[in-house]
Amino acid sequence: GFNCGIVGLPNVGKSTIFNALTSAGAESANYPFCTIDPNVGIVQVPDERLDRLAEIVAPERILPTTIEFVDIAGLVKGASQGEGLGNQFLGHIRSVDAIVHVVRCFDDENVVHVSGSVDPVRDIEIIQAELALADLDSVEKKLQRVEKQAKSGDKKLKEESEFYARIKQALEQGIPARKVEIGVDEQLWLRDLHLLTDKPVLYVANVAEDDLAGTHPFVAQVGEIAAAEGARMVTICGRIEAEIAELDGDEKKAFLAEMGLSESGLDRLVRMGYELLGLITYFTAGKKEVRAWTIPVGTKAPQAAGVIHSDFEKGFIRAEVISYNDYLAAGGEAGAKEKGLMRLEGKEYVVQDGDVMHFRFNV
Ligand code: GDP
Repeated sequence: GFNCGIVGLPNVGKSTIFNALTSAGAESANYPFCTIDPNVGIVQVPDERLDRLAEIVAPERILPTTIEFVDIAGLVKGASQGEGLGNQFLGHIRSVDAIVHVVRCFDDENVVHVSGSVDPVRDIEIIQAELALADLDSVEKKLQRVEKQAKSGDKKLKEESEFYARIKQALEQGIPARKVEIGVDEQLWLRDLHLLTDKPVLYVANVAEDDLAGTHPFVAQVGEIAAAEGARMVTICGRIEAEIAELDGDEKKAFLAEMGLSESGLDRLVRMGYELLGLITYFTAGKKEVRAWTIPVGTKAPQAAGVIHSDFEKGFIRAEVISYNDYLAAGGEAGAKEKGLMRLEGKEYVVQDGDVMHFRFNV
């Protein structure tokens, strides 16, 4: 599956948020195995469209799609130099697809801050520096190796070593790898480096219980950094989310309505995490189940079918597709067919977010 690693300094609220995320999912009977590892949680992706489809189809069961969150504790200043088992934690970050960076924006004298005061800008800089230093280490090693090989006069190797030198220079200037402009040929080299600063980032401003709107200047500071990087930010209060996560569906709705909110901060976080990973959803809708399936943006029909079963991909013939809005407007599959809103699509069709799909395949 696709996963987001939750990172941040100690005591910023990572575990609180992670536990809320996983306990919210644990309430669902469909995923009793919500926690596969103490630090890895499978979290349902909230999607209203699934409920609308279910209203039309009245299936036996409704299955949302999921993503994984990984609680990566232990990142501290000096981690890249091996401080506090640092390398081990950086290794965990290497294995995730995207980074959710939790930043403490709540003042609470009862919660110790590792650096003695609450300062989101400094905190973000500490984490960024550790990630960049770890990357610098990886790039330097690679550069040394390839530079040596390039002495043979091989043009391609020379280009490759020049590329690593360019990444190294950017990192030294505080530019994350994801911000370096690279050519098509170079993408493979970059991917093979598995750099931490190449991963997409979502900032979480963890605010105090009495500042749900995020009016504290700390939040604006995080927002400014995010904006400058072209990253997104979500404001949540970990403590309150932990309480909301304990509530069942109706209680949760009532609680949120009382606070004037349409969805919980966690729901927003999960949706934004899904987008951060470049994922979209298509649906299958039958009497047995209405179900959401996850694919990366740009996935073609056979590969999308393969998410359900590899046989669907191997024996793919064509897909019957109704876009979500058409499906809804026509009141379901039969209506959509009547109105000519069902399309037959072939191997080259790029599946769109919200498509209601039915695959035809050979066995
Ligand atoms: P981690 O080290 O980043 O995983 O942080 P924890 O989730 O363990 O939280 C550290 C402390 O901060 C705990 O005592 C939490 O209860 C507290 N905490 C987390 N989120 C909030 C919040 O939104 N408001 C307040 N006041 N305290 C919080």
